[in-house]
Amino acid sequence: MSTNAENPALSFDTLQVHAGWDGDPATGARQVPIYQNTAYLFQDADHAARLFNLEEVGYIYSRLTNPTVNALQARLAALEGGAGATCCSSGHAAQIMALFPLMMPGDNVVVSNRLYGGSVTQFSHTIRRFGWQSRFVDLEDPGEVARACNKRTRAIFCESVSNPGGHVTDLPKIAAIAERKGVPLIVDNTSATPYLCKPIDHGATLVVHSTTKYLSGNGTSMGGAIIDSGKFDWSASDKFPSLSQPEPAYHGLTFHQAFGALGYTLHSHAVGLRDLGMTMAPMNAFQTILGIETLSLRMQKHVANAKKVAEWLEADDRVSFVSYAGLKSSPYHKRAKKLYPKGTGALFTFGVKGGYKACIRLVDALQLFSHLANLGDARSLVIHSASTTHRQLTPEQRQAAGAGDDVVRLSIGIEDADDLIADLDQALGKAAQ
Ligand SMILES: *Cc1c(COP(=O)(O)O)cnc(C)c1O
Repeated sequence: MSTNAENPALSFDTLQVHAGWDGDPATGARQVPIYQNTAYLFQDADHAARLFNLEEVGYIYSRLTNPTVNALQARLAALEGGAGATCCSSGHAAQIMALFPLMMPGDNVVVSNRLYGGSVTQFSHTIRRFGWQSRFVDLEDPGEVARACNKRTRAIFCESVSNPGGHVTDLPKIAAIAERKGVPLIVDNTSATPYLCKPIDHGATLVVHSTTKYLSGNGTSMGGAIIDSGKFDWSASDKFPSLSQPEPAYHGLTFHQAFGALGYTLHSHAVGLRDLGMTMAPMNAFQTILGIETLSLRMQKHVANAKKVAEWLEADDRVSFVSYAGLKSSPYHKRAKKLYPKGTGALFTFGVKGGYKACIRLVDALQLFSHLANLGDARSLVIHSASTTHRQLTPEQRQAAGAGDDVVRLSIGIEDADDLIADLDQALGKAAQ
């Protein structure tokens, strides 16, 4: 069940097409079938009992496991270099599911203040309803991260490449703090993807994804995932009783002791998905599997296009700044080259001279860029955060979030870069009028 039984010698390009699926055992179908199915026949009553006791791995009910979703889980575990994976109905569901085995009421998570806007809301308001707290920190100040960890801290959470300002996290440094504090580091790897960055190689325990973005890559399917490295010792302290002590929500089974490196993942399936029900639909898993088959090819084009467009914008008089770690002018350029040698993604912001009104004219004049609130589509996307996603904030809050009045965010697609530049050129002309 979603184990990484793949040959570790195979490279990324091979795994993205093969991992987790050797053909359908029932029919021989080469591509992963869409198992649009709810429940699975037991061979006999004894078989049913073994499945419910987790003595035998198998399918019971699609809220817990489904063969199409399972193929995607195994592929993601292989691509991220993890022991196991759990897919969820969305990226936001994956973030709650990632914390669920770790947190009790009164516990806290230390969180980077550079996060996707929706994650800021989820962490600062919604998780409080569960009695969980967030302590926001600046990752550029390791002392602050360490000081924020206290006796009730159960994880550190950050993004590898954070949206929208193109900040690249010094993952080994943050992982070292997590290790000293005896808590797992959880990395949201949505905007980098495992092609550009494998957080587990840099010391992360858990990786979360919104598969809605680059992994599906086609703008069709919501989804999320959690990949566990299998390396964290959940039993080293009494901080993680759901994994290290008999779990009352699963007739007293001790998950870490019983399943070792797969303990966290099996807890997520047997308790998390069973009781929270944030299950990925088989159709969405299938669309995501199709997307992943071309991930490396798309990411190479995304990165090459983003670099070309960012360099063109930086040289243009109508533009006040470009914030992208792929540019030599970025304060993160050196770190990016070391930790993210294949590039830092295709998401960045730039400033338009003329401020708020010029930005509005720019987004209205763009023709190839779609004006919407998403990222990681094959198509190029644009958004003016101050008039949309960050509209409810004060001007000071917008400035702090990297979403000032004059800031436009681009998610560069896989079209021809010169066509994108021509579109930006004509729209900047209209913005200046
Ligand atoms: C979109 C996104 C999310 C949330 O994912 P959904 O699939 O929209 O729920 C979380 N983190 C990052 C970095 C994202 O871009």
